[in-house]
Amino acid sequence: MHVCVIGGGIAGLSAAATLASEGIQVTLLDAASQLGGRARTVAIEYNTQVHQLDNGQHILLGAYSETLKLLQQIGVNEKNAFLRMPLSLQLHVNSQIGFKLKTSRYLPAPINQLLGFLFCHGLKLHERISAIKFMAKLKKTNFQIGEDEPLAIFLLKNKQHGNIINLLWEPLCLAALNTPIQLASTKIFLNVLRDTFKNKSDSDFLLPKLDLSQLFSQPITSYLKRKNVSIFLNKRVKSITESKTGYKVSTKDETYDASHVIIAISPVRLRNVLGDLPKLHYIAEQTDSYHYQPITTIYLQYAPTASLSSPMLGLANTFSQWVFDRGILCNQHGLMAVIISAEGEHQSLTQDALALKVAQELKAAFPQLDKPLWHKVISEKRATFSCNVNLPRPAQVTPYTNLYLAGDYTYAEYPATIEGAVRSGISCANLIYH
Ligand SMILES: Cc1cc2nc3c(=O)[nH]c(=O)nc-3n(C[C@H](O)[C@H](O)[C@H](O)COP(=O)(O)OP(=O)(O)OC[C@H]3O[C@@H](n4cnc5c(N)ncnc54)[C@H](O)[C@@H]3O)c2cc1C
Repeated sequence: MHVCVIGGGIAGLSAAATLASEGIQVTLLDAASQLGGRARTVAIEYNTQVHQLDNGQHILLGAYSETLKLLQQIGVNEKNAFLRMPLSLQLHVNSQIGFKLKTSRYLPAPINQLLGFLFCHGLKLHERISAIKFMAKLKKTNFQIGEDEPLAIFLLKNKQHGNIINLLWEPLCLAALNTPIQLASTKIFLNVLRDTFKNKSDSDFLLPKLDLSQLFSQPITSYLKRKNVSIFLNKRVKSITESKTGYKVSTKDETYDASHVIIAISPVRLRNVLGDLPKLHYIAEQTDSYHYQPITTIYLQYAPTASLSSPMLGLANTFSQWVFDRGILCNQHGLMAVIISAEGEHQSLTQDALALKVAQELKAAFPQLDKPLWHKVISEKRATFSCNVNLPRPAQVTPYTNLYLAGDYTYAEYPATIEGAVRSGISCANLIYH
């Protein structure tokens, strides 16, 4: 058995690590010059100094059980890697705290959630009661609904209006699905809520204390090398064809023989490798219909003494949605990472104009942040597939024997997330060695 994993994003890396841990021979090919795919760190030079910046601030949840297990397996210590905080949302409206929801670390679920909603700041009593009733109804139906529909419509049908939407459900939907609430799949949003609110620690935020490469690709690569996995970078696969012994996987210059293949590339690139596999053309047609959503990260470097009261704070009624204090998190003192999820008016601005606007918004909300010394905008235009209503999601098993699909888009329970990517990779590996 010799497995060729095509794509070294989180899905491909998870598949390779799981197979290698079972002693299976693996070759991993990636088109890029570094592993990690959409969760990677890039070196940015400013004023002769090199800064390591993530292509986008990532947050994990306590419910990301398979990701945490995988990190443990490859030797990443959770305490060194993450700042774990009980669910806490604080949104600033100008210089005021417009919304605050905090859950207790000590009380069990769902009492901690109930009290969190009951005593949250920024919603009127009837709004808080309406949110609690809504959550209770969802729990009763185990977060299941019949026909899928846009989340905005579902919320209105369930008497969620005004501030509950603006300050609670919409920011959560953007953070979890990276999809505007008018398009977002209610079913997928409820899957995330269900898993987040199951046990007390599932709703914890895990904020990386390391950069994304230190967190994922570097330790997984070391693990794979210890297990004798062959890793080849700058190898863009052009075609996969059936052979007598399995498959031939070809790049521009080389061909690799494999008994099994896992295609772990993003849906945007899928069609490019499926040409010689006619039974998979229907999948390329499905993924061709996908719409993608951007994630923009605006890095603003202030004086090293500048900091926020918390590593993660929200902003409402602004382009800026969340700001992360990289000084508190990763010792990048004075560096703020501001996130704007999904499409919106901010896309009409140039990068410099956007950075200026965001700096003004931060100054209004946090007057201690004066003028940034420099900025860098990283815009991932196709950060995730838009998690729309009834999006077709191909399975990991394909009509071809011993050929599987991994990637966040194949884990149909979840939106595009690290956990979805990890689960899809592990699932392909399990299909091979079980
Ligand atoms: C800015 C940003 C912020 C995000 N924030 C979060 C977050 O907070 N929490 C969260 O859970 N998720 C977040 N995500 C989503 C998460 O990063 C992705 O869901 C996950 O990384 C997808 O992994 P993947 O392996 O499925 O795909 P990819 O990362 O796209 O990996 C595919 C790999 O295939 C390679 N490849 C492509 N074509 C070929 C070819 N022909 N031959 C060989 N190799 C090829 C690529 O180089 C790439 O390495 C974010 C994503 C972005 C972009």
